[in-house]
Amino acid sequence: MERVFDGHNDLLMRLWQAPDQRAAIWSGEAGGGHLDLPRMRAGGFAGGLFAIYVPSPVSGDVDVLRAAMRPPYDMPLPPLMEAGEALPVALAQAGHFHWMARASEGAFRVCVSVAEIRAAMADGVVAGVLHMEGAEAIGADLDALHLFHAMGLRSLGPVWSRPTIFGHGVPFRFPSGPDTGPGLTAAGEGLVRECNRLRIMLDLSHLNEAGFRDVLRVSDAPLVATHSNAHAVCPSSRNLTDWQLAAIRETGGMVGLNFATGFLRPDGSDDPDIGWEPVLRHLDHLIGALGEDHVGLGSDFDGETMPAGIGDVAGLPALIEVLRSHGYGPELVTKLARENWLAALTRQWA
Ligand code: ZN
Repeated sequence: MERVFDGHNDLLMRLWQAPDQRAAIWSGEAGGGHLDLPRMRAGGFAGGLFAIYVPSPVSGDVDVLRAAMRPPYDMPLPPLMEAGEALPVALAQAGHFHWMARASEGAFRVCVSVAEIRAAMADGVVAGVLHMEGAEAIGADLDALHLFHAMGLRSLGPVWSRPTIFGHGVPFRFPSGPDTGPGLTAAGEGLVRECNRLRIMLDLSHLNEAGFRDVLRVSDAPLVATHSNAHAVCPSSRNLTDWQLAAIRETGGMVGLNFATGFLRPDGSDDPDIGWEPVLRHLDHLIGALGEDHVGLGSDFDGETMPAGIGDVAGLPALIEVLRSHGYGPELVTKLARENWLAALTRQWA
């Protein structure tokens, strides 16, 4: 089975939303959602980036957002959340991440280097990298950034669409380009520099165009969007325009294909009945723009509606089979499935 390293999932949020269920969710007993240990094994899921994400009370709940994604749409973003409110939630999710390693007796491992990811893969252990989607839990002094780094944080998006003290994110709009307002604040530029210093990868997936340009100007690392698609195929504000893809290519960066139906379908709808054609169109476009070495997968499992053909993590082999039938050779399939991510992380963390 082709083993997959994935750029983005929201399992930690799902565990946090049902704390008394977390053992049942992780063991697969609870079912539902897209990720658990047995289905990861069934799907060849070798590892990935696990996001800490703090939902806003009520309005920021992903289910509410998802329900509002009926094109054309322009969802209002929830207001800025104070670090004092976000920090306990972020800590709880970091705790869930470390709990998975403890609870599963050697089936899941916290990794902070590519050597550790490869060692986990060789041992048949799921490799987890800690990511933070939106830096609400980090105050202007950045002390919490260092604490989370000590907990294993190696990837961070300064914003999840909702504004933070570090910048403005891209709102969920369809159809819309990503040029929706101001980008990073001065504090945000400081956060980027400190992440560079700590070798924490910066994720541009939820930044708007101005924020993207700010990271391009300030950061010394290749540009990465862990879970975003091609705007040329699906004109969502969350997708990357051709100039953004060119900038990512220029820096030797990386894009992970987001499986969310609303970011795949040319009509922007959330309908999971999508077939494989849009998936392949995005991949062809991303590979055309970035080259074969800079595209991977960024599922958004447990955060978004999945195409019916994928369903959940156990559907990864079906996707791999479709890539092969589409004419991608074995070497390219392996690059898309995991090797491009591992090479990108090597460039980020070196
Ligand atoms: Zn996201």
